[in-house]
Amino acid sequence: MIPEENRYDVIVVGAGHAGCEAALASARIGVRTLLLNLYLDNMALMACNPSIGGPAKGHLTREIDALGGEQGKATDASTLHIRWLNTSKGPAVRALRAQCDLYDYHRHYKRTCEKIPLLDLRQEEVTDLWVEEGVIKGVKTNLGNVYGAKAVILTTGTYLGGKVHIGLTNFASGPLGQIPATKLTNSLRQAGLEVGRLKTGTTPRIHRDTVDFSGLMRQDSDREPLCFSYWGEKKVYEGYACYLTRSNEKTHEIIRKNLDRSPLFTGVIEGVGPRYCPSIEDRVVKFPDKDSHMVFLEPVSHSSVEIYMQNFTTSLPFDAQVEMVRSLPGCEKAWIMRPGYAIEYDYVPPTQLYPWLETKKIKGLFCAGQINGTSGYEEAGAQGIIAGINAALLVKGEDMIVLDRSQAYIGVLIDDLVTKGTNEPYRMLTSRCEFRLLLRHDNADKRLSHIGRKLGLIDDERWNVLKKRWKAIEEERKRLEGTRVYPSDSVNEILKEAGSSTLDEPILASELLKRPEITWETIGKIIPPHEVLEKEVIDRVTLEIKYDGYVKRQLKQVERMKNMEKVRIPEDIDYDEIPGLLNESKQKLKKIKPQNLAQAGRVSGVTPADIQILWIEIEKRRRQRKEKDGA
Ligand SMILES: Cc1cc2nc3c(=O)[nH]c(=O)nc-3n(C[C@H](O)[C@H](O)[C@H](O)COP(=O)(O)OP(=O)(O)OC[C@H]3O[C@@H](n4cnc5c(N)ncnc54)[C@H](O)[C@@H]3O)c2cc1C
Repeated sequence: MIPEENRYDVIVVGAGHAGCEAALASARIGVRTLLLNLYLDNMALMACNPSIGGPAKGHLTREIDALGGEQGKATDASTLHIRWLNTSKGPAVRALRAQCDLYDYHRHYKRTCEKIPLLDLRQEEVTDLWVEEGVIKGVKTNLGNVYGAKAVILTTGTYLGGKVHIGLTNFASGPLGQIPATKLTNSLRQAGLEVGRLKTGTTPRIHRDTVDFSGLMRQDSDREPLCFSYWGEKKVYEGYACYLTRSNEKTHEIIRKNLDRSPLFTGVIEGVGPRYCPSIEDRVVKFPDKDSHMVFLEPVSHSSVEIYMQNFTTSLPFDAQVEMVRSLPGCEKAWIMRPGYAIEYDYVPPTQLYPWLETKKIKGLFCAGQINGTSGYEEAGAQGIIAGINAALLVKGEDMIVLDRSQAYIGVLIDDLVTKGTNEPYRMLTSRCEFRLLLRHDNADKRLSHIGRKLGLIDDERWNVLKKRWKAIEEERKRLEGTRVYPSDSVNEILKEAGSSTLDEPILASELLKRPEITWETIGKIIPPHEVLEKEVIDRVTLEIKYDGYVKRQLKQVERMKNMEKVRIPEDIDYDEIPGLLNESKQKLKKIKPQNLAQAGRVSGVTPADIQILWIEIEKRRRQRKEKDGA
C-alpha cells in the first residue's frame, strides 16, 4: 500500500523544457500532478545556447504560447536581446529569435511551477516504472519512494544514460556537469520499450573580459519594441549585443591535426548526431573547400561573464579547443571557462508512440522532448504541453488532443516523429511543413487558442485580449475589402511616392494592398483608419490580404488531406491478410499503426499503390459491416 499523499493523477519525470510544460498543463487542467527532477536547481536549464526561436522553432514557441503554455512568457521574462529573422523573405519563414538570460529563464519556470495549485515538485531520481499488465501504475525512486499515478510522462532529456566526451576522455554525466540518470533505462527495456542512443554537442564558453570585441561585427537587438508572448509587454532591449567572428585556415588546420583525438572521428561515440547543428570539426571535414565559418559570440546572462560561441560546437580535446578558440579574430587571448563537449544519451524511438504521445505498449505512459529523439527547447516544450494535456485528459476520461499538419508546427513535429521516426536528433525546420503559409508565426493564436481556452489554459483576461485583437483584424480587413479608392491627383501622388503605378479607375483598397510595393501605411494615407491600430493588427491584415491567393491554394490542399484523414483505419486491421501490399509496407504499417489513410501515406516506404489497396480494403470492410447491420 502506498500512502495517500503519494497518489497522483499524473507524474512527470524530468523538469526540463518538456517536463515543465507538461506538468504545468496537467495541473492547470485540474488534475493532481507530481513533477520529479534529479535536481530542482536545474529546472528548464538551457544546456546549450540560451536562445529561443528562429524560423520553425519560434513558430513552435508561439504555438505553445497560444495553447496557454509558458515558454513565450519565460522568454519574455529573461530576454537580453531579440530580433526578427528573415524579414526580407516570405511571411512563412519570418520569426523572432531571443537571446535569454539562462538563470532568469530557469527561475521563471521554477517560480511558476512552485506557485501552481495541484502541482508538487520533488527532487528525486526515478529509477523504475511501475507497470502492471501493460498499464502504468506509477514510478519508484532512488530514495525507495513509490508514487502512484494514472498517467506518467517521461521527459528525461539528455540525462538518461548521459555520457560526456571531451577528446578521448569520457565519463557518465548529464549536460553542463549535471548528474545523469543511470537506472531508468533498464526499467524501460524491461517494460518492453526499445531504447536507442543519440548524441549532441555544445560549444566552449569563454570569459567576456578576455575577448576583444572592437574589430568584430556587432549585432544589436531590434529597435522596435518586441516580445514573444501574445500577452507579453513589448520592449526595446539595450546593453547586450551579439558579435560575429569567423573561423579561418589556421582554425581548420588545428582541427584537422587533432582529428585522431576526436571521439567523433575515432568511433568512440556510438550515438548519431544532429545533421542540422554539426560540430565545427564535422563542418571542416565535410566541407573542405570552405575556408571560413561564422561564429557568433553571445551573452548567456546579465549576471555572468560567460559567452556562448554559436556554431562552434566541438568535442575535441581541451588543449585543441584552447588553440582553436584563440585562432579566431577577437579571441586571441580568450579564456575558456567551460569546454565544449559531446553528450550521448538514451532515447525511445518515437514510432513506439501514438500521435497523442502515449506509448503503444504501456497504457498511460507518455514520452515528450529529447527522449523522443528531438533536439531543442522549443521542440521539447511543444511535445511537453501536448503530453501534459493528453495525460490530464486520459485521467479525466476525455478524448485525446491531436493537432494535425495543417493546424500547427506541433502537429507536423509529432506526426513526423510517430509516423517516420528518427535515428538522428530531429530539429524542426520550416521546410518540414507543407502548409507553411497557413502556419505562420503571427497567427498561432487564431489557430490554437480556442483549444487552450476550452481546456482551461487561457483565462478570461487573456481570452478577452485575443478577442479584441481578432475583432480589430476582422474589422480592418472588412474595411479594406469594402472601400474603393478613386483616382485623383492626391491619390496618384501618394502612389507615385510609393513607387507604384497610378490609378485611372477605382480599385478596392484590398486589391491595392496586394501590390508588392504598397504597404498598409500607404493605404492609410489614402483612407485613414477610424482608430489607432496595434502593429500586430496591421501586420496580420497586410499578410492576410497580400497572400490571400496562396493561402486559398493551400486550403484546397488541406481539404484533400482532410478527406484522406477521414478514412480511419480499423484498429483490428490485419495487414498480413491484405493481398497485394508490399511486405516491407506490411511490416512498417504493423509497427506504426497509422490512425488514418493520410498518416499511412506518410509512413516511409509505403507507396501510393499500397494506399490504394488499403483504401479498397477499408471500403470493402465498411460495406460488409453496413450489409451486416442492415441484415
Ligand atoms: C550538449 C547539448 C547540446 C545541445 N545542442 C542543441 C542545439 O544545438 N540546438 C538545440 O535546439 N538544442 C540543443 N540542445 C538541446 C536542448 O538542451 C534540449 O533539446 C532540451 O533541453 C531538451 O529538453 P527536455 O525537456 O527534453 O530535456 P532536458 O532539458 O534535458 O531536461 C530533462 C530533465 O529531466 C531530469 N531527469 C532525467 N532523468 C530523470 C530521472 N530518472 N528522474 C528524475 N529526473 C530526471 C533532468 O534532471 C532534467 O532536468 C543541446 C543540449 C545539450 C545538452
